Order: sequence, then structure tokens, then C-alpha cells
Amino acid sequence: MELFNIGFISVTLIDILDIAIVSFLFYRLYLIMRGTIAAQIFVGLLLIIAFSFLAQAINLKAMGWLLRTLTDIWVIAFIILFQPELRRLLVILGKNPLISRFIHLDVKESIEEVASAVAQLSRKRHGALIVIIRATGIRGFVETGISLQAQLSTALLVSIFNPKSPLHDGAVVIKGQIIEAAHCTLPLSHVTKSGDTVLGMRHRAGLGITEQVDVISIIVSEERGTISLAENGVMVSGLSVQELLNELRNRLVKSPSKSWKNIWSGSRSNA
Ligand code: ATP
Ligand code: MG
Repeated sequence: MELFNIGFISVTLIDILDIAIVSFLFYRLYLIMRGTIAAQIFVGLLLIIAFSFLAQAINLKAMGWLLRTLTDIWVIAFIILFQPELRRLLVILGKNPLISRFIHLDVKESIEEVASAVAQLSRKRHGALIVIIRATGIRGFVETGISLQAQLSTALLVSIFNPKSPLHDGAVVIKGQIIEAAHCTLPLSHVTKSGDTVLGMRHRAGLGITEQVDVISIIVSEERGTISLAENGVMVSGLSVQELLNELRNRLVKSPSKSWKNIWSGSRSNA
């Protein structure tokens, strides 16, 4: 059904609906990404698309060709630029609530063991980095360490992170009630600051892994004895043991799904 004409273009109800839906989607995306580097890149992309339409409308052939080539490349550029975000998005989309439910049963007891180990490590000022796997494995990272496959216990965790232990360097990876590996190397986050404090390697590694895979990491600072927790590229620091326990229960035992905003705002916002 034709509504009206603008010059030679006839506008139908479907066209208006189409434009409204696309505008709404772009607007929602913009709201999610506002204030992040992703937003600036996104605005750049929108400008190129707008210019390319304009060039086509007024028949600038060479300009149209240039902009079309750019928009073609943009798809690839987009994937490369947003690789960590897209990866996290897919991980969250692929999260199967059924599988998570089964794993939660296991995790409940592990939480107490982990928290009491963290309490001791923090008191002794022994640095520690503990990664708790949610549902899917992270084999690539586990293989960088030394495989343990040991029953999780507070005593074992405390022993591993004793500075005299050969395994104390790097991260411990926990799945359910099993310590899968120790001495693992994790990917460093590009974020180098949290508030006013400069993040060292341990904290950046603890944050970095959560930007790439669906895990929770706990970091005990050797310098300050502070306890931090990271998930989805967002870190909270200065937790007490009780707060850590609550956070772990909330995040692991209750609903696993996190707000979508974290996917974009996490690592990029401070970058
Ligand atoms: P702290 O507050 O405990 O000093 P930090 O964040 O300041 O922590 P560093 O002082 O740089 O970090 O800590 C270095 C330790 O961090 C190393 O001894 C090692 O155990 C760990 N670490 C460094 N890089 C990685 C990595 N990529 N993956 C896992 N662990 C790492
Ligand atoms: Mg340090």
C-alpha cells in the first residue's frame, strides 16, 4: 500500500515499519554501548553507511564505489575489533541452563572450601589466582599449567599458593569439586587500572580470562591481601570473606545469566 511519494521514491507502510524497526535496533545498540570505545567505532560505521546511501542516491559513482568497498571491509573489521565481545556474546548465548543447573549442585560445597582458603591466603598475604569454571571447559588455558585432577579442599588450595610451592605461580582452575590444574597462564586484560589502583599482572590475568570465557576468577593480592572477584570483564575489589561468599553464591548458585551490558562495557569502558 503506497502512502506518499518523495520525488521518484514511493513510500509504503512496510517501508516505514522497516525503518522504524532498524532505527529502534540501532538505538538500543547505541544505548548499550554508550560511553565505550565500541560506541565511537559504531558511530563511525553509521556515518560510512549514511554517506554510502547518499552517494548512491545522488549517483556519485566513484565515491559510491569507495564507500561500498569500505562497508564491505567493515564486516571483517567489525569481527576483528569486537572479537572479545562477540566471543563473550556467543558464550552467553550458548549457555545451557540445564547444564549449568547440574554443575551448580557440585559448586555449592566448593564455594565454602574456596572461600575459607581465600580467607587464609589473604591473612597470610599469599598471592592467589583461582578460576572457577561455570559450565563449559577452558581446555586451552588449563593445558598451559600442570594437570592435577584433585579433589578440591581448603588445605590443598592453601598449599598450592604457598610461595615456597613450585605450583604457586599462575592460576588454579576449578571445575565442580575438582582442581583441574595449577600453574596456568591466563590471557592478560588490556585494562590496566581499576579506579585509582594500577592493576598488576595477577589482577590483569584474573580479569583477562573472564573477558574471554564464562568463568569467575578470584584474586588475592600478595601486596595488600585484598580479595577481588571478576566476571564478564568486570572486577570488584576489596571484598571481605563474607562478601566473597555471598557473591559466589549469588553468581554460581543462583541465576548464571548476566546483564548484556557487561559484554560491551566491561573491558572497553576503561580501555
Ligand atoms: P599482587 O597484588 O599480588 O602483587 P599484582 O596484580 O600486582 O598482584 P604482580 O605483582 O605482577 O600482580 O604478580 C605477579 C604474579 O602474578 C606472578 O608471580 C604470577 O603468579 C601471576 N601472573 C602473572 N601473569 C600471569 C598470567 N598471565 N597468568 C597467570 N598468572 C599470572
Ligand atoms: Mg604486585
